[in-house]
Amino acid sequence: METGIDAGLNTAVERYYDITLDLYEDLWGEHVHHGFWDPGEVPGANGADRHAATDRLVRELVGFTGVPAGSKVLDVGCGIGGPALHLAGAMGCRVEGVTLSARQAARANEKAQAAGVADRARFHRRDALATGYPDEAFDVVWALESLMHIPDRPAFFAEALRLLRPGGTLAVATWSVRDGELDEAERDLVRQILQHQVMPDFSSLEEHESLARAAGFTEVAAVDWSAAVANSWDPSFAQIKRFEQGRSVMRQLARERGVDVLGFFHAGPLMKKGFDTGVITYGALRATRPQPRDTEVAALVRPIADLLREIVGEDDAWLDRVGPGTRVDGDLLAESHELAAWSLALRERYGDRIDLVEYVATLDIDRIIALTVADVAGYVATRQGGTQRPADGG
Ligand code: SAH
Repeated sequence: METGIDAGLNTAVERYYDITLDLYEDLWGEHVHHGFWDPGEVPGANGADRHAATDRLVRELVGFTGVPAGSKVLDVGCGIGGPALHLAGAMGCRVEGVTLSARQAARANEKAQAAGVADRARFHRRDALATGYPDEAFDVVWALESLMHIPDRPAFFAEALRLLRPGGTLAVATWSVRDGELDEAERDLVRQILQHQVMPDFSSLEEHESLARAAGFTEVAAVDWSAAVANSWDPSFAQIKRFEQGRSVMRQLARERGVDVLGFFHAGPLMKKGFDTGVITYGALRATRPQPRDTEVAALVRPIADLLREIVGEDDAWLDRVGPGTRVDGDLLAESHELAAWSLALRERYGDRIDLVEYVATLDIDRIIALTVADVAGYVATRQGGTQRPADGG
């Protein structure tokens, strides 16, 4: 499918998080992700200890990826907003969160209101691959334990690159599998986990790194946190007080909400086995959207201006008066139909990810008036970079 969106899976994921919202909230509070512990640290089983560990995972991911305070963040798969409230609260970030579950989005907005950060953290029911945000809208794209639910991972990385400004940061933490071949028993374990947790498949950490590079990211690095998070599935620990009575309560829940709800309970022992045997892994990944290099931009200025020269029907002397700092609107008085023709010519020459008209539409009026030929060259260089630059070329 061209969009990479799997409607059937999305419906199942939405349903899963709709019907388990209160169960997760009882167990983990506002965080719907693993906890993080030091090697050898024995987890305390009460709610406060669990909460400290899940809070810590958020801070570890901030630290590993270098999310800057005050940055503009897209939280892909935001759950009920736990991580986003940390980013918007303590760190003063502006966060847009998206989740497939309308109930999660509503709960997250309630929590933002209660925490007094509703002006900086907003949550929506949207698909990660169709958020509708313009190019370069964010400093950080943050995906904490959501990527496992997205089958088209190349599309996810391409979309993250599009949404980040040049120099922006991708921050991912994800469930994963051991790299390389698995045997039949291992594959069977993985199959059961995927089924209960509504996930299409797992990638290894190494595969995630390759996908990030292939999409055009640079400064790609991953860290294996399997040992730090595995305690989350400790049986004495991953229990909900209300459900300690056991099977009868589970049966009743399944009657009320449908059998999918049981995935919440089945995950525990399977994930524990997965971590114990090393089949299931867990890690974080950071990557940077590269800045176009100055030399690259400089080399594009003249050929790009030449395309416009042809459109406006000027001669070579005109071209000699055009430099990097020449303003398209102010100095060249380019009309919108000329801009549209230029956009097409740029696309023909530099590839179909280039749409100058669409780009200009995302700018505010002051930036449109100030737009220079070098800005256009920078835009072309950035859009080309996403598909054509070799891995880690910067
Ligand atoms: N990041 C949150 C929640 C993790 S649970 C936390 O750490 O607390 C996984 C989340 O990913 C859910 O909110 C689910 O709705 C979301 N998700 C899964 N696939 C998605 C998709 N295609 N688009 C948007 N959100 C998605």
